[in-house]
Amino acid sequence: MDPFDVIVVGAGPAGLLAAGRAAELGGKVLLLEKMRQEGRKLLITGKGRCNITNDASVSDFITHVNPNGRFLRNAFSHFFSKDIIELLHKYGVETILERGGRYFPASNKSSDVLQALLRWVHELKVEIRCGQRVEKLIIENNEITGLQANGQVFSCQHVVLATGGKSYPATGSNGDGYQLAKHAGHNLETVRPALVPLETAGNVAQQLQGLNLKNVKAVVWVNDKKVAEDFGEMLFTHFGLSGPIILTLSRIVVDALNENNKVDITIDLKPALDEQKLDNRLIRDLNEHGKKKIGNIFRYWLPSTLVPVFIDLLGLDPEKECHQVSAKERKQIRHLLKNLPFSITNHRSFKEAIITAGGISRNEISSKTMESKLVKGLYFAGEMIDVDAETGGYNLQIAYSTGWLAGHSCMKNSN
Ligand SMILES: Cc1cc2nc3c(=O)[nH]c(=O)nc-3n(C[C@H](O)[C@H](O)[C@H](O)COP(=O)(O)OP(=O)(O)OC[C@H]3O[C@@H](n4cnc5c(N)ncnc54)[C@H](O)[C@@H]3O)c2cc1C
Repeated sequence: MDPFDVIVVGAGPAGLLAAGRAAELGGKVLLLEKMRQEGRKLLITGKGRCNITNDASVSDFITHVNPNGRFLRNAFSHFFSKDIIELLHKYGVETILERGGRYFPASNKSSDVLQALLRWVHELKVEIRCGQRVEKLIIENNEITGLQANGQVFSCQHVVLATGGKSYPATGSNGDGYQLAKHAGHNLETVRPALVPLETAGNVAQQLQGLNLKNVKAVVWVNDKKVAEDFGEMLFTHFGLSGPIILTLSRIVVDALNENNKVDITIDLKPALDEQKLDNRLIRDLNEHGKKKIGNIFRYWLPSTLVPVFIDLLGLDPEKECHQVSAKERKQIRHLLKNLPFSITNHRSFKEAIITAGGISRNEISSKTMESKLVKGLYFAGEMIDVDAETGGYNLQIAYSTGWLAGHSCMKNSN
């Protein structure tokens, strides 16, 4: 069998873009995927809707990337959000733009995005083989000469590793690629779950499970020092806290917990009102409803599920009439409305993490080509690289852009 110009490992968004671009430039390309089907993770993105990308400018986009989005500037200059949208349009996927610059397929089906990418690579004659687990890279004199999958050796000039991270391992991305890269001499930045729900002490979150709060502010405290905050939507679960703002803040929390710090999160349920304005509102309502029971008045301030929990936390007698509430008690109510406290005991595991932080060290990858600085002909793309971003379509765009650049560079470096 003739050797391949390029073998891409992993048929996720990064691998598909790498394979397609190398084939577009005339390469003979083999794409190996260990699962029985391509793009298993892509199918579950955006709760099955796939938040395809984000319409932020490059400078804005990179501010949403950790630990350093500048590494991606060159990849973005070659292939960015408008390019993936254009490619998808060409293959029949209409898109809609939603709040926060998030693009989704108009059909709300992630499967349409996957099918479009597959049609593109099939048209370009990329050979895809599923059920093929790459076990070993073959490297001679610091140069890639092939790889081994399911015991079979394949020769090639270039290998693109696009094996994803460690999160949601049931989709196929279980960290295999890190081992392959390590054997090739690469170093890893500590791999840890990111965009991950958090576990809390006590049973307050459990009592509130299923409650979704909008327009609240979550503040992270590490060793009683405020380190971050975010405003938006969150969710209580049977183990603790989740939802968009908690996932975003989780990156800081995971690192702080791993360093054995004390971590707390407080929820400001009335972020639009400062302490004084909130106090005025409480005084007004308590005066207006002087004869009513305090247990009833809380409904004006909180979603009903929160009311018994609040009364319990405050140690208030729900039968007490509003005019009997003392200034001290009013202060406690005000404080709790602005600072509902949760002690964070742990983060959930990779199984529930949207993304993996850490990975192949950026210092060992050329940002101009995505080629390894250690092994000629070896390229990296997607989540396995030490970059990760917030929710909003950023992570998929990182996969497409680094994949496209890796495939492009394989062929340009052959000429
Ligand atoms: C629940 C969930 C929802 C998400 N929603 C969004 C969203 O809406 N928008 C967004 O931007 N991001 C989202 N993400 C993140 C996004 O899915 C990832 O950033 C993206 O899939 C990474 O692409 P990738 O190609 O690098 O890796 P993956 O998509 O993980 O693909 C890697 C592929 O490599 C294969 N592979 C692994 N090892 C081997 C091996 N040894 N041999 C052969 N094949 C191998 C795997 O089976 C897998 O198919 C979500 C993630 C999750 C878990």
